[in-house]
Amino acid sequence: MATPSLRADASTLVEVTDLHVEFPTREGVVHAVRGVSFAIREGETLGIVGESGSGKSVSSQAMLRILPRPGRISRGSIRWHQRLPDGAVRATEITELGDRSSQMNALRRREMSLIMQEPMSALSPVHTIGNQIVERLRLGGSMTRAEARLKAIDLMRSVGIPNPEKRIDAYTFELSGGMRQRAMIAMAIGNAPRLLIADEPTTAVDVTIQAQVIRLLQSLQDSLRMSILIITHDLGVVATLAHRIAVMYRGEIVELGPVRDILKDPRHPYTQGLLRSVASLETSDEDSVATIPGVVPHPFEVVPGCPFHPRCSAFMPGVCDRVAPERTRLAPDREVRCHIYQSRA
Ligand code: SF4
Repeated sequence: MATPSLRADASTLVEVTDLHVEFPTREGVVHAVRGVSFAIREGETLGIVGESGSGKSVSSQAMLRILPRPGRISRGSIRWHQRLPDGAVRATEITELGDRSSQMNALRRREMSLIMQEPMSALSPVHTIGNQIVERLRLGGSMTRAEARLKAIDLMRSVGIPNPEKRIDAYTFELSGGMRQRAMIAMAIGNAPRLLIADEPTTAVDVTIQAQVIRLLQSLQDSLRMSILIITHDLGVVATLAHRIAVMYRGEIVELGPVRDILKDPRHPYTQGLLRSVASLETSDEDSVATIPGVVPHPFEVVPGCPFHPRCSAFMPGVCDRVAPERTRLAPDREVRCHIYQSRA
């Protein structure tokens, strides 16, 4: 039986357990997510870190039920916890809902929102920013167009867009990259979601805008008390923003725990390698840049045992290349998937 995610408790907003996502193709089945488990609490930020193809974005697409075809959830549970006005909690099993069911649409409209990496692909070039925010607000069902326009101006101001009364009638191509990113965030928070999923929100912007976006997300979280799931390949971003980190490699969470603990004392050899490469990039000696040897195996390649073993400096022959490690709990809020710790547990 699948082990539940760490510390699901009364404050848990969403609980993902043993999630598997696959993409059947003519060449074979790509197992993009393999047995991922985590929980996000109310008001918490969880950062998912990993290289391209590690399954971090696919996991969030499964939560929103917006997997690109032919992706499908083949196993597992995604339980959404909705707090009712009388204080009771109603759990909804997202994996049992249809992608386009009214219940799933309502969850996407009112409870979860997505900020994508590239605003130009998320925003329409033929509608004004204002119209796009207004339409999104009106999906909530209770606002007139005039009310939604006033609210859109407020939202644009709250995300730091100067002169929103004028900019509301601008088209995306008339705004800078940073302003487009802010407009997309305004659209995403319009209906006060309980969970904001930010998928590489700072990848397409320069470092100055990156710092502004991070500060903006922090202040919005404080004022709206929402939870954030931030997906990134950038450990610096999660270090600033997240309370906990899940490190993903080839569709699995290999290490999960509080951000400070993992940054100070990473346990999984892959996390250690990631941190070493960041540390060496911060030094001025270009010749000493540390990298993780090898490359992520091709998605169709079947790797027996631990998926990281072809690249791991701590590889134990006969064990790591034969048996897949289980999750080992190191502390109440910390776990790792590696034989080194399994044998000590
Ligand atoms: Fe390395 Fe073995 Fe741990 Fe995998 S299980 S990370 S190969 S030591």
